[in-house]
Amino acid sequence: MCCDDKREGTNSPETDSIQTKQFLLDQRYLKMASIWAQNSYCKRRQVGALLVKDKMIISDGYNGTPSGFENNCEDENNRTYPYVLHAEANAITKVAKSNNSSDGATLYVTSSPCLECSKLIIQAGIKRVVFYDNYHHDDGILLLKKANIEVLQVEIDN
Ligand SMILES: [Zn+2]
Repeated sequence: MCCDDKREGTNSPETDSIQTKQFLLDQRYLKMASIWAQNSYCKRRQVGALLVKDKMIISDGYNGTPSGFENNCEDENNRTYPYVLHAEANAITKVAKSNNSSDGATLYVTSSPCLECSKLIIQAGIKRVVFYDNYHHDDGILLLKKANIEVLQVEIDN
């Protein structure tokens, strides 16, 4: 006997436990995104993103240069090259190359999306965005909310 945790007679309504479950999932996927960010060659800032749909990771991304480019994100003055792709853009374009669809997916990203990425998120049909680090201006977040995308900031302990 392993799994009898006295589900009957509990005071918490079912919706509560569904919400708790979702919160734990959100936290864990965000943690995975933060680990994934370590793949980035960028020195100034490492950002990771995961696209999750029906509890499956359908895509991933971290900030970096396009395929075939050198893995340097910054020039000698430590300025980020304009052709560096953000983690969200990499995750969305990667799923575009696959047989999966981002329609209805949740995006987990370590930093709040910028305005440019937010446009892509809207057009990709992503319905939820979960992040933990408030880095960019909030114009991206405001755009997402305007498009009725659920935006959630979640704390993760490292
Ligand atoms: Zn961006």
